Amino acid sequence: MYREIAQELVSFIKNSPTPFHAVESISGILEGEGFQRLKEGAAWDIKPGGRYYVTRNASSILAFKTGTQLENYSFHIAASHSDSPAFKVKENAQIDVKGKYTVLNTEGYGGMICSTWFDRPLSLAGRVIVKEGNSLVTRLLNIDRDLLMIPSLAIHMNREVNEKQSLNKQKDMLPVFSGRKMDADALKTLVADELKVEAERIYGADLYLYNRAEPSVWGAEGEFISSPRLDDLECAYASLQGFLRGENRGSVSVYACFDNEEVGSQTKQGAASTFLCDALTRINTALGKTSEDLSRALASSFMLSCDNAHAVHPNYPEKTDVNNCVYMNEGIVIKSHAGQKYTSDALSIALFKIICEKAGVPVQFFANRSDMNGGSTLGNIAMSQVSVNTVDIGLAQLAMHSSYETAGIKDAAYLIRAAEAFYNSHICETDAGVYEIEK
Ligand code: ZN
Repeated sequence: MYREIAQELVSFIKNSPTPFHAVESISGILEGEGFQRLKEGAAWDIKPGGRYYVTRNASSILAFKTGTQLENYSFHIAASHSDSPAFKVKENAQIDVKGKYTVLNTEGYGGMICSTWFDRPLSLAGRVIVKEGNSLVTRLLNIDRDLLMIPSLAIHMNREVNEKQSLNKQKDMLPVFSGRKMDADALKTLVADELKVEAERIYGADLYLYNRAEPSVWGAEGEFISSPRLDDLECAYASLQGFLRGENRGSVSVYACFDNEEVGSQTKQGAASTFLCDALTRINTALGKTSEDLSRALASSFMLSCDNAHAVHPNYPEKTDVNNCVYMNEGIVIKSHAGQKYTSDALSIALFKIICEKAGVPVQFFANRSDMNGGSTLGNIAMSQVSVNTVDIGLAQLAMHSSYETAGIKDAAYLIRAAEAFYNSHICETDAGVYEIEK
């Protein structure tokens, strides 16, 4: 069963080379399940027992299911992110080299491991804004062929490459586009041809390089899965499947996937934006509830902040904490951090442990080494807009922010089961100040 899920996961990732494509992939799955699209710029007509979704910037998405018994309701939220580190193509991209090559001018998006982008077929994907009459229309682009390469410098010209390598994004990382000097608008023409529109109708584009490597299942017992963008599309996909399978009459189940986590989330569609808060407020209003009802609902709400975690690296076991370290295929990672970069606390951890216990899903604990700063994630950032009890979780992986990452074959299936159990659970604040969990 978990092997089938892993195959579905990698086909989802393959169809999602950029956040725009990820949101389109998720929207397609939701539409197939009968979800109705809402627009932020239009009125929301929401009924109990309904299924809806809304996007922002076409790169963040929020879906929700309303229960049928919402007298004392709460929100069950699972959040993940749609973006991964990559190289973005600059506006005036073509650079001529001695009349013999055309390379593309790019800049980094997020904190990638630069070396993992060398010597492998790459292509371009993203969104293009096309003028149609008096309107601007968004078109998704994925040039589905090997188009670009960033060649390494030969060791003979850099004898110290294996001892020390420092990579400069403006000097070392520009991809080769052509073996000759191209016309100034060659890239634009290529994009226009691909979209079957006239080049002069293209007014803007957000284009990114992506790794063309096929996902792979490998290891002595096929226990590993490698693919681009496992962080965080593995969690985005698994939490979506759990959301679709869950069923809860007494709550509003919410699935959120935010763009821009890799650049700090401080954008109009990121986890630090008003997107989640706006949506929850509008759901509450559309259900005919008061702002007092919303405050009460939030007090009993719970969020899973889902983002991948670092597994122990076999060649560097000393890089992880002595005993709060995690392994692939051993279940869901609960992350905690004294400085609250991860939102987990004793109560949210206890709640999530009980949910996983009921679902028969193993959990493991992650903390950074005390002398090392780990990454941050979306949970604590979203809290500044909507404050609810949250646990930071994820799936163990290796090579985070490589262009080709590695995870465990079993773990997506674990998260699907745990997320389903979470959406099915009943969580509320009692007079005694403790939480009751019941099915
Ligand atoms: Zn992540």
